[in-house]
Formats: sequence, structure tokens, C-alpha cells
Amino acid sequence: MREVLTLGRYFKKRFGQRVRKIPISLQGFTCPNIDGRVARGGCIYCCNESFSPSLIKINRLDNRVKMHFDLKENPILDSQVAQLREQFFWHADFHKDKFEITKFMIYLQSYTNTYAPFETLKRLFDEALGLPNVVGISIGTRIDCVSDEVLDLLEGYVREGKEVWIEYGIQSIFPQTLELINRGHGIQGAYEQVEKTRKKGVKVCAHLIYGLPKESHEMMIASLREVVRWGIDGIKIHPLYVVSNTKLAKMYKDGEYTPISLEEYTQLVLQSFQEIPESVVIHRISSGAHDDMLIAPKWCFDKNIQMRYIREKLREIGFEY
Ligand code: SF4
Repeated sequence: MREVLTLGRYFKKRFGQRVRKIPISLQGFTCPNIDGRVARGGCIYCCNESFSPSLIKINRLDNRVKMHFDLKENPILDSQVAQLREQFFWHADFHKDKFEITKFMIYLQSYTNTYAPFETLKRLFDEALGLPNVVGISIGTRIDCVSDEVLDLLEGYVREGKEVWIEYGIQSIFPQTLELINRGHGIQGAYEQVEKTRKKGVKVCAHLIYGLPKESHEMMIASLREVVRWGIDGIKIHPLYVVSNTKLAKMYKDGEYTPISLEEYTQLVLQSFQEIPESVVIHRISSGAHDDMLIAPKWCFDKNIQMRYIREKLREIGFEY
């Protein structure tokens, strides 16, 4: 049985103990694919509230100030720092009390977390890495949103011994799919961005989605092969699910989109595991929303049932996840 290098196992090897990734969502962050810089409306499946419950609370705050590269002054920076601290301590205390976990990694999760003025990012990253028992940071973003200046900043943290990851949403390598999902960028330059990031000592986790509209099994595996070829350090794969108030929800209701089944998704995961090198860290292979925003597929309501099924099938072909 081959033990898969999950993120948990990777952390244990690297730090000699368990490390919990703490998801953080901050007021004012958005995405150039939403605010009109590259497109409007966002990816057709995008609903950040369904990815992150903290956002529901954050969205009740005054959200008139939005982050973007050219914002001259950031009047909500202190408030963002306060939210970072509040969310961190809430999660850290919980995991300390319940699971005796004492090391943490900050995960900037919602929207595009490098889409803000450099000074804002520097302050937030400095604050995050200065929190007690924080060993590193993982930053979710797009391939068209990380400047060289930010990469230099991250390189500095790596030199100080911090664990630094960038999580790039790739989703698919097919231009027609990226256009159909209104991704707001193509695939050109993605490999170069990944390479540039890795040269700074920053680890790259690529996100892929299985079940995108009009994609065949072969296309999804081709996307996987391509990102593996780029030399990524980690991967996150998840099934596409439909949540309310999205273009995808309309496509689903109009019969233009059929979600992937659990069986089909599992087959893809099984094949993927045979292709992913042993050294690549598997950050996640499941996804779902457990609230009434989720429309379909129903199997994405319960991540535990989902994972139990996938784990069992993986075991049958010799992988311990
Ligand atoms: S890139 Fe991410 S945050 Fe931006 S629209 Fe797409 S899914 Fe939403």
C-alpha cells in the first residue's frame, strides 16, 4: 500500500508535528475577474461565500472600499489586520483545545489574495507570519495577479525559514473551457509564472476542477498531466458543484450543464493518483458546501461520505490516503 503524501503527512515530515491550516477571509478583497479589471461577473461557478463561511460575516461589514492594485490608500487596513487576528485566534484556540495542535499555517483563501496594493499585502503577510506558532502562509490567487515585487517579498519570508505556498487557480488548461467559465485569463504564461514562483523558493499548489462544462475525462487528465509537467509542489483537485446565484446555476436549471457523478469523479481521482509523482503534496481532493446554497450534485453536501467512498476506492488500487 502506498501512503499518499497528503498535506497533513507533509507537515508532519517537515515540522515533526501536526500543523493546522487556518482559513482567513478579509474585508475588501475581491477579484479582477469580478470588478471589471479583466472581466465582470467572475467565473461562472464563483460564490466565495460558499467556499468560506467567515465571508458571510465579513460581508456584513462596510464593504465600500475594495482592494485593487492601484488603490492609493487603504483605510480599512487596520480593520483587515484585526479580522486576521480574530479569525486566527478563534481557530487556533479551537484546534489547541480540541486536537492539541500547536502549530499553524495561515491560508488566505477568499477571492484573489494578491490583488491589493503592495503595502497592504506586506503588512498583512508580516502580521500573519508574526502570529504565535505560525510556521507559514499559503496564498490563494490567480496566475495573472502576482507581481515580481510580491514574489521578492515572499522569497524574503522563505529565507527566514517560513513555509510559503502560492495556490494558483488553474482549473483547466483548455482555452475553450477557460473562456466558457469566464476565467478572465488564458493558459499562456501560466507555466512561466509557476516557474518564476518556484525559483523564489515559494511552493506552488495548482488547483484543478473536474467536471467543468463540456470537458471530457481525457481533457481533465490532460490538465493534470500538464500541471504535473510544470513541476508543481502540490495539487488540489475538486469536483465542480453548483451553488445559487451563479451563472452555472442558471445553466444547470436550463439543462445546459450536468454535474459530474461521484463515481466518475472517483475514477478521475484514481487515475490522477497514478499520474501524480510521489513527491507532490496532495492538498485536497474533496469539496462541497453543506448549506442551502448548494444546488447540485447532491453528493457534494457531505464531504465525509464523499471522502469515505473515495478513500475506499483508492485503497482497492493500493493507495492509502
Ligand atoms: S478567480 Fe476566483 S475569486 Fe475570481 S471570479 Fe474566479 S473563482 Fe471567483
